[in-house]
Amino acid sequence: MVLAVVASLVGVLSTVAARACMLLADEWRVMAAAVARKAGEALVIEEIQVLAPKAWEVRIKIICTSLCHSDVTIWKLNSGPAAYFPRIFGHEAAGDCLSPKGNGCSKFPVEFFGGMPRDGSTRFLDVNGQPIHHFFSVSSFSQYTVVDITHVVKLNSDFPLDKACLLSCGVTTGVGAACKVAQVEEGSAVAIFGLGSIGLAVIKEMTDGGADYCFECIGLASLMQDAFSSSRKELHLDEFISHEIKLEEINKAFEMLHEGKSLRCIIWMDN
Ligand SMILES: [Zn+2]
Repeated sequence: MVLAVVASLVGVLSTVAARACMLLADEWRVMAAAVARKAGEALVIEEIQVLAPKAWEVRIKIICTSLCHSDVTIWKLNSGPAAYFPRIFGHEAAGDCLSPKGNGCSKFPVEFFGGMPRDGSTRFLDVNGQPIHHFFSVSSFSQYTVVDITHVVKLNSDFPLDKACLLSCGVTTGVGAACKVAQVEEGSAVAIFGLGSIGLAVIKEMTDGGADYCFECIGLASLMQDAFSSSRKELHLDEFISHEIKLEEINKAFEMLHEGKSLRCIIWMDN
């Protein structure tokens, strides 16, 4: 059984995929996670307690995850409504899940406060018993996580989990922006500013010959030329994966994304 965990992000979806795992519902586990202790500082691989899921929640054994610009952007914030530390980032991932339940609808608005969406509490404790905040209702930079069932969707069992990561946020954000938010009509010409995973996903729906719609995906006007020159590129999920690393190397993924050297880095969890 393969499931996908889905987090709401600015009106679109973020994902984690999962299969059946061996955890009992009422036990907690000490697991490794990459914990962000302070804004902008390297993540620390720590043993943490992952508490049992409560009502309307499922616990997911993360197999692989990927790093999104939203992780990096909010990791750098040391003040404001989105700045919560310590925190486990990560909102694109695939893994195993015991629960047969799941749906594709995100019920809750974008979550900045760092807890579970229904009661605001956390399912992560450090070795001293101190709470660690969640991120975008997923927190996938951990060998296990707990998510609300409204953030889980079922995938076909043969869907490759590293590709499933990409459907969590970047790719679906781009396709969703084009098809659901802007509702681009067939035959329209569209300009995309910023060609990360989101921009490349928008391209799937593109034609050329002048822009009827504009998608600004990264905030840098200097990337406008890249968007236009790439507008005939065909979308394949494989093309989004530029690097693959282990959890222990997660800070390298942050560096590569920050320096513009990676598009999507798949982070394999060693369970
Ligand atoms: Zn994202």
